[in-house]
Amino acid sequence: MYIYKVGIVGAGTMGAQLAQVVSYAGLPVAITDVSPAIAQRGIETVRHIYQIRVDRGKMTQGQLEEKMLLVAAAGEFTALRDVDLVIEAVSENLGLKQQVLRDLDATCPPGTILASNTSALSISALGAATRRPGKVVGLHFFNPAYAMPLVEIIPGLATDAETVEDMVSFAESIRKVPITVKDCAGFLVNRVLMAYLNEAVLCLQEGAASCKEIEQDMIAFGMPVGPFTLLDTIGLDISYDVARILHESYGPRMAPAALLAELVKAGRLGVKNGHGFYQYDGPDTGTLESIIDKVRHETGAVSTPWRSTRLLLAMVNEAVLALQEGIASARDIDMAMVAGTGFPAGKEGPLHYADGLGIDSVLHELQVYAQMLGPRFWPAPLLRRMACAGFTGRHAGRGFFTYEMAVQAAGGYP
Ligand code: NAD
Repeated sequence: MYIYKVGIVGAGTMGAQLAQVVSYAGLPVAITDVSPAIAQRGIETVRHIYQIRVDRGKMTQGQLEEKMLLVAAAGEFTALRDVDLVIEAVSENLGLKQQVLRDLDATCPPGTILASNTSALSISALGAATRRPGKVVGLHFFNPAYAMPLVEIIPGLATDAETVEDMVSFAESIRKVPITVKDCAGFLVNRVLMAYLNEAVLCLQEGAASCKEIEQDMIAFGMPVGPFTLLDTIGLDISYDVARILHESYGPRMAPAALLAELVKAGRLGVKNGHGFYQYDGPDTGTLESIIDKVRHETGAVSTPWRSTRLLLAMVNEAVLALQEGIASARDIDMAMVAGTGFPAGKEGPLHYADGLGIDSVLHELQVYAQMLGPRFWPAPLLRRMACAGFTGRHAGRGFFTYEMAVQAAGGYP
């Protein structure tokens, strides 16, 4: 099915970005929110994103105006009666999203695909709220959507194969890189990324290192920004929502760091309201340090050691668990982490990185961390199977991937 017109529900951070991405590809898009005024704010954000392109000389003012003609704001769902696809981007709350989908189901023609940009909620549960679960699908864009190429396409238990194919074609038509992943909490990228981000917060909470030290080491590794800058950009409230959903699904290994909850409680939500781990607007109120002290006192956190592998192996281990569960292939996992999170392209993704370290070393280091820091580092069983079978990574010519062995390293020819 060709998508001629798109509707977007929720004109916040993501909804506005999605309207820009869709209109940039030349498709008309109607954006709604709880009121016409809020929808209109979304339109202003779309204009702002285009204006940055104009200011950078990437498009003319005339082209901007042409693109803006494709974007319309509406307060009512009735404006979505003639769209082929609706992407909902309302706040990350299952009850709210199910209600929005029920309302869309009652308003849109039966053929309209209803997609959710949820970061972590079950697509199957969203589909079950409608009379068209075959046409409900996850379409997970990354922030900022105009810059991040990856889109995760997530079929729920009842999603039709045709709907998935339509979304793959749609994503390609708007110049994105689609990857189809199984429905699980956090899907692929957020699940693997959150293991890394949460460990960064735990390191800070436990006094292992300062924000600055952790950020510097991760940037030295090749990450485009440090974990706290990324959390502030995503929004600490959204990050905490995702962390809670992951915890509910995967249990104790994903328990959100208490510091993240405290920061949200204190109203430090990140860039969006001027302060999170860092201060963006106004004078530094100094409350981050006092919140950290409070959390240390309440959790009785003892000082733990800092090593960048604490964060990186947390990510690798979750990627291996996702691979074991068949959420995606090894190649797709690595591609998604590079395209969706900025994992350094030169290191080719967490599984290639693990192959480079050596699977036996990864296994050993995870075991040491598990003993020192707790069972969240319990190695994924696949790592042990690989180590026992000689799939020990790049130096052995086989690990998660196969490698050309250097002639010398393989024993050499006479
Ligand atoms: P946001 O808080 O910036 O925007 C949410 C918008 O939804 C608000 O404008 C709100 O008024 C609107 N809304 C709430 N209830 C509504 C209703 N009943 N009908 C219409 N509109 C309603 O949130 P966001 O950061 O844009 O996140 C939106 C979704 O995208 C969430 O599911 C989130 O998990 C997901 N997501 C967020 C990011 C990110 O980095 N922020 C990245 C990928 C996906």
